[in-house]
Amino acid sequence: MENLRNLRNIGISAHIDSGKTTLTERVLFYTGRTHVIKEVKGEGAVMDHMELEKERGITITSAATTVRWNDIEINIIDTPGHVDFTVEVERSLRVLDGAVLVLCAVAGVQSQSITVDRQMKRYNIPRIAFINKMDRTGANPVNVIQQLESKLGLTVLPLQLPIGLESNFQGMVDLIERRAIYFDGEKGEDVRYEPIPDDMVEAADRARQGMLEALSMVSDQIMELLLEEAEVPLDLIHQTIREGTIAQQLCPVMVGTAYRNKGVQELLDAVCRYLPSPLDREIHAKDIDDGMAEIALAPDPSAPLVAMAFKLVEESFGQVTYMRVYQGTLSKGTFYYNSRQKKRARISRILRVHADQKEDINEATAGDIIAVMGIECATGDTYCAEDTNVSLESIFAAEPVIDLSI
Ligand code: GDP
Repeated sequence: MENLRNLRNIGISAHIDSGKTTLTERVLFYTGRTHVIKEVKGEGAVMDHMELEKERGITITSAATTVRWNDIEINIIDTPGHVDFTVEVERSLRVLDGAVLVLCAVAGVQSQSITVDRQMKRYNIPRIAFINKMDRTGANPVNVIQQLESKLGLTVLPLQLPIGLESNFQGMVDLIERRAIYFDGEKGEDVRYEPIPDDMVEAADRARQGMLEALSMVSDQIMELLLEEAEVPLDLIHQTIREGTIAQQLCPVMVGTAYRNKGVQELLDAVCRYLPSPLDREIHAKDIDDGMAEIALAPDPSAPLVAMAFKLVEESFGQVTYMRVYQGTLSKGTFYYNSRQKKRARISRILRVHADQKEDINEATAGDIIAVMGIECATGDTYCAEDTNVSLESIFAAEPVIDLSI
């Protein structure tokens, strides 16, 4: 079960054109998937953003993609960016444990950001905001931060200050580590860590103090240290940001540009540090045999299986059903009970889906997001161990789609 600590099920969501696709491709590239594939094809390992653009289509066709960053496995679940919200989209959202909300530094909080954020609040999904396109003319992160507060009602926690803006955007001041991070090379192929530039020291001190004061609202320990004017240990800062983010008392805000090759590293670190693992989430199902009484699911591989089908995709080789396992272990070749259809089904294949590869696996455990073949079902269906009868959704009435008009 401890392995679950090293798992993140996240969505990257954005209003159209904010850079979600570009950023996701960067993530796939830097976590090695695209890299490996390019090497296999013998086309070299380094891609600039134009080449990445050409890669579009093969990299992000999946409803879910598994990548690895250091010792953390990250499942990136596609959260559709269009406005026609359906119950299907809601199901893709409810399997997330956390999300990155990508915003354009020029356009700020747009209609789709509001819609998605509202949905995420509904499913209690903690978020990190990433203000992208800092290199664009008109980039105004202060404005975006104000909009995050006023339009989304978030308590923002800026973790970085931009160094330069628009065409002069060079990197970020990391307020936690108290250092500057510069992109090197025209496309930011590398990053360089330096002391905070002299002309930003004062602003960085002020911003850091603001960050610590915001954290003191969440942590008495930080409050006491601030009153004593003592140093706040790094670990305590990270831990408090994590707790505040998971409790949705805070929304960490990062800045950058998906155009810099290494621009996603800090964001990936933040995803791993601050967004919850499946162990941090409380998920309930309804016990159909007990008057739909709520039961808490334990993310325990040895408990009876509870999994939800959240997306169906017709592929050339048949229907693929994307599932999240919430409890227990899903094993290949085993029969499970579909509590809506009231019938058993055998799982003939389980696949772990990477950017453009599918890997056959024998079992998936609690917390996993995987694809299965050989079953026919609808999205929202719950599969459970044969002697159990639970549902993750109310099966007698479709869940109401809330009014999303803004
Ligand atoms: P999506 O609709 O949110 O998936 O956005 P895309 O990733 O397709 O990006 C929309 C446009 O913005 C594309 O032309 C990208 O090349 C461009 N773009 C993405 N990120 C950046 C960035 O950081 N800076 C600038 N200047 N353009 C960007």
